[in-house]
Order: sequence, then structure tokens, then C-alpha cells
Amino acid sequence: MIVTILGSGSAYGAPQAGNYFGQTDRSEPKNYRTRSSVLFDFGDCNFLIDAGPDFRTQLNTNNVSKIDAVLFTHAHADHINGLPDIQRLASNQKHPIDLFCSKETFEGIKLCYFYMFNNNNQERGLESLRWHVFENGDNIEFNGHVLATTGLVHRNMLSTAVRYKNFLFATDFEEIPEMSVPLFKNLDCILMETNNGFNTTRRGNGHNDFYAALNIRDRLNIKKFVLTHLNIDVDYCRDGKKLPENFELAYDGMKFDVDE
Ligand SMILES: [Zn+2]
Ligand SMILES: [Zn+2]
Repeated sequence: MIVTILGSGSAYGAPQAGNYFGQTDRSEPKNYRTRSSVLFDFGDCNFLIDAGPDFRTQLNTNNVSKIDAVLFTHAHADHINGLPDIQRLASNQKHPIDLFCSKETFEGIKLCYFYMFNNNNQERGLESLRWHVFENGDNIEFNGHVLATTGLVHRNMLSTAVRYKNFLFATDFEEIPEMSVPLFKNLDCILMETNNGFNTTRRGNGHNDFYAALNIRDRLNIKKFVLTHLNIDVDYCRDGKKLPENFELAYDGMKFDVDE
């Protein structure tokens, strides 16, 4: 399975609105980050995790013209605001798109996009979105590919982490509940959010910093870390150099293989 990081940025992207670069070097292309989104290419289908406000540009920049399924981790804007464009894509590609999310996330999405769930106001293409609502902890199966899920604490909500074989993607969380720990065991690679980088003053904002990732490595003995959902405190070169060997910073367009 090939993983493509379509977006490696935090909720407000980098640079933020108004060309605000924060602590990042504007001359480094890898400091330009769109909102978090990750593509799992299984060979026979394209399975996307999260579609935020940059969804349309991400598909077009990476020349992805077909998406088969999308999983929404939670109902924050930076993870769901691509939904209207997903509907448009389903029309354009003339192929339905299966949408997966937890019960809690589904309630949030319905609040934000009420008009897409109003049967009296059907827009063209709505019938090509097929919703599958699960409980965190359930396994999801798509085209014969099995993904395990668990809910991680993210402020006042749960964010769904997804495991495929010995690879785990966990975004937007600050705490791993005890019942989720087994999903973090025996991993070859974790793609993990470290929104705050080396900045510890943001602790309590629902996200991790690099120290949390180091702590998880020591606790759970994970072989490789790819760190994503990075905010403007994180500079690709300056901070990447300070991380241990088995840690890598994600960037938009990054690809890697996950062993089958
Ligand atoms: Zn986020
Ligand atoms: Zn979030």
C-alpha cells in the first residue's frame, strides 16, 4: 500500500492566512503545508483519510482523479470541509464514494452540512455519497482491505485513529485511552500528529508535541515515526535535524510504502 501525504499542515495551514509564517523559513518549500489529508493507495482503490478545505487543490496538484472512499477522523473544519467537493468529484468521476465516520463524527458533519442531508433539497450527486457509520473500535472493510479503528481523546471529542497491518495513522489527539493502547503495539510505522513541534507552551490545546512522540516511542517501542499535522512553530530543516534517526517530518506530496 502506498501512502501519500496530501496535506501535512495543522488546522490553519502554513503559511497561515495573510502570509503569516510564524517560526518557519519561507524559502523552504517543505514549510508550505496544506490541511491534513492522507491517501492510502491499495492498488485497486484510493482510500482517503480526511478531506479538509484544501481537498480540491490537493487532488488537482497530485493528479488524483478518482477517490473510492473517505474516512473522516473527526468533525473539525480542517478535516471535513472538503465534503461538498467530494460530492462534486463523485459526479465528475461517475462513481459513488463510500464515506466512513464514527457515530459522533457523523452527528458533527450533519450539523455543519445540514443541507446535504435534507431529502427535500437533494442536489445532483448526493445519491453517490454512501455513508457508513461505525463505532470507534470497529473494524472497517473496504474492497477486502481491513482497517482497525480506535477513538483517541482530542479536547472534547474523539478522533478516530486507523490501523492497517503494522501501520497506524493517528491525528488530532492528546491522549491515548487505555483501551486504545493495543492498537499502538507492534507497529513498524506510525504517522502521528505532532501539531506543536518543540513548543511546549501550547500543551492542553488537544494536540501533541515532539516530546509526546518521543514518549510514545519509549513506551510502545514503535520502529518508525512520520510526524504530521504540523503548525507554524515547526520548521522542516531546523527542527527535522534535531529529531532522532527514526523520526521524519512529513511534507506535502511525501510518499512511502507500507508493507503488505
Ligand atoms: Zn486537525
Ligand atoms: Zn481537530
